[in-house]
Amino acid sequence: MPAPADSPPANTAAAKTAPDAGLSPAQIAAQLPAWGAALGFSGVAVARVQLAEDLGLLERWVAQGRHAGMQWLADSLPLRADPERVHPNTLSIISVKWPYWPEATLAPAQHTLADPRRGYVARYALGRDYHKSFRQRLKQLAQRIAAAAPPLRYRVATDSAPLLEKALARDAGLGWIGKNTLLLDRHDGSTFLLGEILTDLPLPPSAQPAQADGCGACAACIQACPTGAITGPRQLDARRCISYWTIEHRGDIPEPMREAMGNRIFGCDDCQLVCPWNRLAASRVDADFAPRHGLDAPALLELWAWSREQWEARTAGMPLRRPGWLGWRRNLCIALGNAPADARIQAALRAAPAEDAPWWEGLRDWALQRQHGDKPGPR
Ligand code: SF4
Ligand code: SF4
Repeated sequence: MPAPADSPPANTAAAKTAPDAGLSPAQIAAQLPAWGAALGFSGVAVARVQLAEDLGLLERWVAQGRHAGMQWLADSLPLRADPERVHPNTLSIISVKWPYWPEATLAPAQHTLADPRRGYVARYALGRDYHKSFRQRLKQLAQRIAAAAPPLRYRVATDSAPLLEKALARDAGLGWIGKNTLLLDRHDGSTFLLGEILTDLPLPPSAQPAQADGCGACAACIQACPTGAITGPRQLDARRCISYWTIEHRGDIPEPMREAMGNRIFGCDDCQLVCPWNRLAASRVDADFAPRHGLDAPALLELWAWSREQWEARTAGMPLRRPGWLGWRRNLCIALGNAPADARIQAALRAAPAEDAPWWEGLRDWALQRQHGDKPGPR
């Protein structure tokens, strides 16, 4: 569940150098995959903007309260219906995929998840905050387009604008929406980020045929979700999703969700780790997502020992900042409660200073009780 960020202002780019000057919109559209590949993107295509059906699904989802506490999703519905309101004079939306998996295979992530003394951090969040570098790359792509067709007005978005990103990418031929509700591709799996360039250049929509649904009879993601948050094919209830609770939610976490979190301290990748399409995809590694501070397999007790100052210094410029210090401590406290009984963990829980929240002592008591109980909770 990517984090929203502030949007950059619209840009106007004129050509500085013009190696591709004079290309027609159709020729530019044909060049986009190659220009994008040079920037590390695994897919670039022009979307058809036919959003009525997807918008209806999103409206029903919000009406059912499945967006949990993410009120910004409900508030932005009118904008999502109309990209023209997101960026005036939008005539084309270019959809872009950027692979983010930080390891050559899925195995290291699976090992960390299976070790209850270590914390699991969603793989997109192990390195630097992707918003900035993704925007920079998207701007480079836009400037390449501008060199071919100046002047170009555009806006880049990296989950920073209210768009139906997955529907746009699907309609551009970049994948299908899987039963885990993520965009999936036969070559990339689902381990990529989506970005967009909204522009006033009238590019022809992608000629790539829509990708056929590759889920078939598989239901591995539905079965693997530790909280039952995928209530049916392409049906996600954020009120049960660990990514929502550990990243987006502010405040205490309900007890049934705490147990199901296991050692997941920031986000959750379970519905991707089991997806067969990700076995091949994980081999695409981008250095921008290289793990920092050993956070790909961190010992929970070491993270618990970080002071607030250390946390601020070590997570600067990382997505890990999103839940704030209190959210970070809350998630760690729950993971320690779920870890196997260990006198060092119990001592560390007792010795830690109180946090500034009315629910903090209750949460710590819960973790200590779990530590003194028989076994850690369900994983
Ligand atoms: S597997 Fe994790 S991220 Fe996926 S829906 Fe379930 S709780 Fe959410
Ligand atoms: S795990 Fe199976 S059902 Fe779920 S998204 Fe992947 S292929 Fe589709």
